[in-house]
Amino acid sequence: MTSFVATNTDPCVHCGFCLPTCASYRVLGTEMDSPRGRIHALKAIEAGELVLDATVASHFDSCLGCLACVTACPSGVRYDLLIEATRPKLNAPELRSSGQQALRKLLFALLPYPGRLRALLTPLRLYAGTPLQNLVRRSGLLRLMGPQLEAIEGLLPPLAPEAFADRFPLVVPAQGPRRYRVGLVLGCVQRLFDPAVNRAAVAVLSANGIEVVIPPAQGCCGAMTHHQGELEQTQTLAQQLVASFAAVVGPGKAAGAEPLDAVLVGASGCGHTLKHYPEILGGEGALESNGPGHRPGPGSEQPFQAPVADIQEFLAQVGLSEAFRAALQPLRHGDGEPASAIRPLRLVYHDACHMLHGQGIHDQPRDLLGQIPHMQLLEAVEAGICCGSAGIYNLVEPEVASELGRIKADDLAATGAELAVSANIGCSLQIRKHLGETGRDLPVLHPVQVLEQSFNGP
Ligand code: SF4
Ligand code: SF4
Repeated sequence: MTSFVATNTDPCVHCGFCLPTCASYRVLGTEMDSPRGRIHALKAIEAGELVLDATVASHFDSCLGCLACVTACPSGVRYDLLIEATRPKLNAPELRSSGQQALRKLLFALLPYPGRLRALLTPLRLYAGTPLQNLVRRSGLLRLMGPQLEAIEGLLPPLAPEAFADRFPLVVPAQGPRRYRVGLVLGCVQRLFDPAVNRAAVAVLSANGIEVVIPPAQGCCGAMTHHQGELEQTQTLAQQLVASFAAVVGPGKAAGAEPLDAVLVGASGCGHTLKHYPEILGGEGALESNGPGHRPGPGSEQPFQAPVADIQEFLAQVGLSEAFRAALQPLRHGDGEPASAIRPLRLVYHDACHMLHGQGIHDQPRDLLGQIPHMQLLEAVEAGICCGSAGIYNLVEPEVASELGRIKADDLAATGAELAVSANIGCSLQIRKHLGETGRDLPVLHPVQVLEQSFNGP
């Protein structure tokens, strides 16, 4: 019987078409840090010609998991499956330094738990977004304390009061006749570091005649640990998220018995993982994915089921309501000018890797944003290249991530856009950081924020 590694590496014809799209190869420039090199290494490990030691493991750790190589490969090599199967092996204690292991442990113990993160961030409200933070950053003090700490601090945004409590009701009714009923995943990092995104998502959905159910006990979906091969923790987090929906939706439950048309998510990394719940949970207690090949088998016990979709994917699929579309206004004030005289607002959409390469979502956000009047959509030259965020990558591999962040900031700014749009919290934080460091005054918003501002007024 052909092994998993052979099945998935044999189609590679070593053509190298994937190399120009590979973020780690772009920065490091070595074959071992390219998809082709890693595929070759996997074959050699299986053949017993190479040992997975700390050096070899470091070349897998340098992979951002952006999946651009999967999109680029003309031979259909499923590098995504290969790296997913390899990640758990990289977590063996002898393959990383004790410092790296401690950092990862800390991140996995903190980031997926909004309650813990809130406790940690509460005292930092006196620091984040204040002149003191600017002073500390400029002083270079953080660099002396290590690149990881500097990277973590560099992503810390001003902390809004609403980040410290989820203030949504369990059910937000649809405005006007109800067209759909959905659940909303708030995300763990998103709700703390950019709570305005969830607020805008709820407003846009409701204004489009979509009732929104928001389970209060929901935590992290497990994306962060999933992408790092921490399988047990991912399963636990996934089970807890499904349970939070099951606790409120169903006969006799607080949000009512009616099933949800979909569970929506506003961050691409989360959406990618949620669509893989049937595999992660072995078909039990899974949110059903709307992607082919992800449906749980018939007859499996399911306490809760709903298709999963990215919020932009869902809105593009069901269409914006007529009333919503009619109310959309240009985001640029016309200063009393007639509509025909308003200069279009130049906007560039950043394709998050797990949106574009992981979920195949490209046109939907552009179609939605294109419905805003006086909007000019620009395209970045290197739209398919990773920004360097990649889950916890910019915290554990800060040098490579910083280089990619600078490339992305340059690329987006070079379009001449006045507004950048990103549908992934990790990308938004990374891009804001590097735009700021290079002195670019280019705001970064989520697509639902842009739609909401156009609907309600900027
Ligand atoms: S992974 Fe695909 S694109 Fe890359 S070298 Fe192999 S066959 Fe070519
Ligand atoms: S997933 Fe991204 S970083 Fe990793 S090999 Fe593929 S293109 Fe390179």
